[in-house]
Amino acid sequence: MEADLQSVFIPSSIYLYEEKTAETLDLRKIADYLEGKIEGIKVRLRAPFLFHFLSSYPPERRDQTIDHLARRFAGARVKDPSKPDRSFRPMPVEIEYEKRRLKQPDFKAFGILYNGTEVQRILRDLIPRKESGLRHVHIVFTNQFIGTWDEGDLRYHARVALYGMPSVISTTGVVEAPAKPREYYLLRNQLRATGADEAAFLELKERFADRFIDHDDPRLTQILKGYVMQAVFFHMTGDPFCDDATCRLYNAHWQEEMIRAQLTSEREFCSRHQEILRKIRSKKGS
Ligand SMILES: [Zn+2]
Repeated sequence: MEADLQSVFIPSSIYLYEEKTAETLDLRKIADYLEGKIEGIKVRLRAPFLFHFLSSYPPERRDQTIDHLARRFAGARVKDPSKPDRSFRPMPVEIEYEKRRLKQPDFKAFGILYNGTEVQRILRDLIPRKESGLRHVHIVFTNQFIGTWDEGDLRYHARVALYGMPSVISTTGVVEAPAKPREYYLLRNQLRATGADEAAFLELKERFADRFIDHDDPRLTQILKGYVMQAVFFHMTGDPFCDDATCRLYNAHWQEEMIRAQLTSEREFCSRHQEILRKIRSKKGS
């Protein structure tokens, strides 16, 4: 297919916000990768998103904002993945938990599923006007576990990323959202049923190491390059995804699909997406 640059919008700045708990995530490498792929783009690394914006507020306003944000995040929790109901009032203990999380950039927020669309909205409200608009791409890395409601099968689905203003990429989602191989779940359930010890579970994970990504996986940075490109393509063309399973823009639902698209595929992008990147290069170079 002929790649047409008429409908491609090239942003001027990309901001990558750190995620302090992901030890194997190297944003410098991702920034270099992006600058190499998209001619003329400027990538800036920033502190964790909330920390970056709140640190410029005077103390009183910062405290008030944290109170307000804690309420909103507590209200963004998914209480029951099979119910879209969002009308509950958060409990004080949940609000307190969120306050602690917001004050600590390296807080590990595992185990709670949040409504990703709501998380995106909460973060968007903090982006100053001068940095909003299509020219600016904000990509927030978080360890929050996010999901979206699926009208098709009436439940929340965990997601690796949500694209928009800002784009949110979940390091927990990389591990938990795409499904692991069926055999892995079967064998794990067998081990559970027989009361196997921890060593047996670790051994099982080891056996499947090339078929799924685990927490603190050394391949995380390499995997997330593709998700960052999806975020950038969302801004440039309105469509972050590709149907070709060997392209980094493939929307993987299985761990094995993600590993294929991001790590083991012989090419990075399908010919159509490769062509768009090439045209951007020659346009900028001319
Ligand atoms: Zn493609």
